[in-house]
Amino acid sequence: MSSPTLSNPRFPALFKEHPDAIAATICGLLVFLGWLTLHWGWIGLSLLILPAAYVIGGYESAREGLTTLFQEKELDVDLLMIVAALGAASLGLWRREYYLIVDGAVLILIFAISGALESYAMQRTERSIKSLMKLTSDTARVFLNGSEQLIPISALQIGAEVLVKPGELVPTDGLIIEGNSTLNEASITGESMPFEKTVGNEIFAGTINGNGALKLKVHQSPESSLIQRVIRLVEQAQTETPPSQQFIEGFERGYAKVIVLSGLLLAIVPPCLWHWNWETTIYRALVFLVVASPCALMAAIMPTLLSGIANGARNGILFKSGAHLETMGKIKAIAFDKTGTLTTGKPQVVEVMAVNQQSESKLLQIAAAIESLSEHPIGNAIVQAAQARHLEWTQAVNVQAHIGQGIVGEVDRQKAIVGKAAFVREQSDYFPDALIQLSQRWEEEGKTVVWVALEGRALGLIAVADTVRIGAAFALAKLKKLGIEKIVMLTGDNQRTAQTIAKEIGVDEVYAELLPEDKVNVIRQLRQKYQTVAMVGDGINDAPALAQASVGIAMGISGSDVALETADVVLMADSLEKLEIAIRLGRRSQTIVKQNIAFALSFIVLLLFANFTGNITMPLGVIGHEGSTVLVTLSGLRLLRN
Ligand code: ADP
Ligand code: MG
Repeated sequence: MSSPTLSNPRFPALFKEHPDAIAATICGLLVFLGWLTLHWGWIGLSLLILPAAYVIGGYESAREGLTTLFQEKELDVDLLMIVAALGAASLGLWRREYYLIVDGAVLILIFAISGALESYAMQRTERSIKSLMKLTSDTARVFLNGSEQLIPISALQIGAEVLVKPGELVPTDGLIIEGNSTLNEASITGESMPFEKTVGNEIFAGTINGNGALKLKVHQSPESSLIQRVIRLVEQAQTETPPSQQFIEGFERGYAKVIVLSGLLLAIVPPCLWHWNWETTIYRALVFLVVASPCALMAAIMPTLLSGIANGARNGILFKSGAHLETMGKIKAIAFDKTGTLTTGKPQVVEVMAVNQQSESKLLQIAAAIESLSEHPIGNAIVQAAQARHLEWTQAVNVQAHIGQGIVGEVDRQKAIVGKAAFVREQSDYFPDALIQLSQRWEEEGKTVVWVALEGRALGLIAVADTVRIGAAFALAKLKKLGIEKIVMLTGDNQRTAQTIAKEIGVDEVYAELLPEDKVNVIRQLRQKYQTVAMVGDGINDAPALAQASVGIAMGISGSDVALETADVVLMADSLEKLEIAIRLGRRSQTIVKQNIAFALSFIVLLLFANFTGNITMPLGVIGHEGSTVLVTLSGLRLLRN
């Protein structure tokens, strides 16, 4: 927010936030006075007042128009308006028809009003996004030297213990170490249903604590909290211009030149060739300048897309720019990552089988020794299983993760491997058939099997099972209903496991045993066939595919940072059902943009026609032209509604 003012804080604040509204109001008063004095025959006074209206109402547009002219050597709509108004004024002075000067002032006035309205619309969208994100607190309650103290968030360190009282805003992301409560996560996920959270659960800055007091342990630096990252992403989204808007802006530049040229020709040629009356011809040419300007066209896209972004944010869908909202509406095929996206990504160890005399415990110990350094969900599952059996292990050294394959390291100076069959087999001499058969059986049951090997000898198998996300099948069915032609599943897991899960939730086609780069290739092929393809993923291994897709969609809460950064759209609530809303929003925004463009163009044509057939006055032209601009802006705001 802007810095507080010491004296009379209200007026400056009002003026700072709505300078164009105030300029328009003063301009309006002056135009009225100018008209009144003229009406009473006080021409001298009127000729003093009206120029002031021109200056106050037109200052902003003139400044913008001249900046574009001198810095970019381009003509824009602002300048056209000013030229038309000044033209009307000169004509009025020349013909001593002073009402023409009032006409010009009205033009400037209405232009100023529509400018103010437009910036109001923009502000409203921006504010509705920001208000969602304003839910961050500056201080956190911590225990220092045995007493409770409020310290600034920036002074919080990783490992600090923070107290959150009932009803308070959670100041930072953290893990609950004491207490339980229900949390309202609407600010992040758009879901107003409170969630039950207890010891061990992660909670997020910007969410609201329910009835229980909680003690948190800060597990990452507060600047990188989810909500801070989201705020940065949203700020980025507003400054990016989507291609369609860039196209319209390019078009404006060329179009403005054509209009100025045609205006000049219209003013000069008829009087010279056909001896038309100079004054009426110039007047027509000026009206032409006004009504042919593409203001409404300029307002067709951005307010619509910004409203769509705001609506999405309210639903827990984060579009990183308007362009992605547009693409979302065109999707024909969607590829889903399996683990963590279609499934919860929190697999659990369900079977362990050791060969020879090796005990299951030894197997789990070795696997846990390497996996304790892994971030992979399978790694977590194995470590948890080992902990549940109260096993202890010495940590492995030289640990290296092979993304999408497995992980290797040294345990007690012996080389250990955990990973998928093909990967472990490559590096093992001993790989018994009995185990291969067993692993196939488990895979047909939808379990993911990893092999453990030590010094080139397979030690046994660990099977983990992941649960399908609640609502995944329902969400996919809805996507089909929306007319999405193809839904595929991409996974690094093996074919049998993948098939079993795919059948359960209604995926059309499965691509299994993919490395991250294979996922990219599949997306590329899909794009050739279906043009607009979305990829939904959560992991580091999905990031390249997210980037390759027409629109990359990441899971917000469970997703890795890399996925969040790479994606174009983030589903904050991790809920696949939001995909339907996102696609509908994309389609609606496309429809509205198209309607706006059609309306704007036909209005321009209509007004031009009226001008050529004769009877349209300057004020009428101005009202028609600016009115259509305001209507188009308001039409874009429709997307704010649910
Ligand atoms: P997905 O594409 O389904 O998200 P990944 O690409 O992350 O899966 O992993 C693919 C396969 O590689 C896993 O099913 C597993 O067999 C193996 N794998 C990858 N990382 C690990 C690990 N840290 N420990 C054990 N196995 C692993
Ligand atoms: Mg994944």
